[in-house]
Amino acid sequence: MAARDNALNKGELYELACLLGIASCFWLIGDTLGVFTAMQNVMTAGGMSSIVFLGFLMSFALAAASALKSLRLRREMRARASAERAAQSIARRDVLTGLANRRMLIETMEAATGAGPAGEPYAVFLIDLDRFKPVNDIYGHAAGDAVLSQIANRLTELIPKDAIAARLGGDEFSVFMPHEARSADLIRVAQQIITRLSEPITWEHTKLDVSATIGIALFPQDGADPEALLRSADIAMYRGKREGRSTFRFFEARMDEELKARVSLEISLRSAVQNGEIKPHYQPLVSLPEHKLLGFEVLARWYHPERGIVPPDVFIPIAEDAGIITELSYCLLRQSCNDARAWSPELGLSINISPCQFKDRLLAPRILSILRETGFDPRRLEVEITESALTNDLDVARATLGILQSSGVSIALDDFGTGYSSLYHLRELKFDKIKIDRSFVQSLDDNEESAKIISAIIGLGRSLGIMTTAEGIENQTNSTWLAERGCTFGQGYLFGPPVPAHAVKQIILDTDAREQPPRSVAA
Ligand code: C2E
Ligand code: CA
Ligand code: CA
Repeated sequence: MAARDNALNKGELYELACLLGIASCFWLIGDTLGVFTAMQNVMTAGGMSSIVFLGFLMSFALAAASALKSLRLRREMRARASAERAAQSIARRDVLTGLANRRMLIETMEAATGAGPAGEPYAVFLIDLDRFKPVNDIYGHAAGDAVLSQIANRLTELIPKDAIAARLGGDEFSVFMPHEARSADLIRVAQQIITRLSEPITWEHTKLDVSATIGIALFPQDGADPEALLRSADIAMYRGKREGRSTFRFFEARMDEELKARVSLEISLRSAVQNGEIKPHYQPLVSLPEHKLLGFEVLARWYHPERGIVPPDVFIPIAEDAGIITELSYCLLRQSCNDARAWSPELGLSINISPCQFKDRLLAPRILSILRETGFDPRRLEVEITESALTNDLDVARATLGILQSSGVSIALDDFGTGYSSLYHLRELKFDKIKIDRSFVQSLDDNEESAKIISAIIGLGRSLGIMTTAEGIENQTNSTWLAERGCTFGQGYLFGPPVPAHAVKQIILDTDAREQPPRSVAA
């Protein structure tokens, strides 16, 4: 590179030739006009020929050429250095927010923690925005970008002077600062960040709401190098997300163990769904007060080769997080529609659909296509949803439920009373059934409030023309009490626990036997 810079290029050779040409012309003109003879007389006592003047002029031309060349070189070097500085800054800064990027953060962390475990204590925050995705999905990327820039500004204002804030990508930010372990100061900074980032952001006259969950890892105890520290902070942040969001968590070693166990469970759950290890169990649904069998609720069970039968409370949340709940649900629906073909056609089937499945606009067509494929009458199917299915995007939920209902599928609002906006949703959507959460029924005997709430829900259902099912009925006293208050249906261990497909036949046979008038001996 330097050799190439020093050598003369074609343009410069041409320039040099021109300068030499000009010098020769000067000499020719000077010589013809006798200028050199006159100067010779003035400057010297004689002895300098016009050839010496030619030499002077040529040297002058060469000097001018070399000065020009060095000037140009210097200018080029300056331009190159400034381009390099710009490239360096782009490579180390986040273009959208102007904060440091991951690379710069890691370099800063490396420089700070390089002194090793004996060095100064540091804290790294991993900040993940909550509810950022809906902003992007609903209002578009321009709104998303505005939110990210505003968050970056707020972070920059908030953090201590000796801290550095970075955007790691997407809606993930980080703050790195010298700090004592778990000091009150550190907690205060975390709380301030959450409070400030949760304040609404105005974008084109719309108020956008996001918040933040923070994971905190400390150097040196939670990681010896930047990558290990960020990973620990990420694990702590993930814990915060699972435990309610808009909060902060310090990293603890057991979190790592739990995460590993969860990841391994997630891996085996994926293959379990594909290998058909998730099986439907069926729990009877009866009429009140007659206890007439009307159908079954499908409740998922994992037949784990080593752990035995795993309950849904353990694996449904993992399936939701891992994005395999849809596949699991369709697999269960297909199995249960096939199983139900062996039952009397009057018996219905209730299936639980997870809130996160409502993000899929194809949910309704997919359910209906499984019904067609298995030849199951949509009027026998009931879909149970919880209110959290309605909180994300009410319009999408409304459209999905509308398609299902117009095809004959009925909709039940599950776990009623545990959500936070029940009445609003009851007004907005047309449900066929409300399922009173089993926690109310189970505390009926020793909690007066529960009795009042149940009576109110039954009354509400009656006035809106919506039927009610009480879940978790375990004794006859409760069943009678509920029936007297007008509850339409019942479910619970009193009528039967969830059982595998092969045991359903027996329940149906027993019910038939109870309902058939006893045959006379003569007959
Ligand atoms: P859920 O929809 O409220 O289902 C009723 C739960 O109450 C079931 O628990 C059932 O076994 C239990 N139960 C029924 N009667 C009684 C009773 O008399 N006493 C008591 N103590 N419990 C009773 P399970 O099967 O463990 O299911 C738990 C939850 O897991 C379900 O609550 C539902 O939210 C979810 N779940 C189950 N299967 C699926 C599924 O296929 N998809 C989705 N998305 N969620 C499912
Ligand atoms: Ca249910
Ligand atoms: Ca329920």
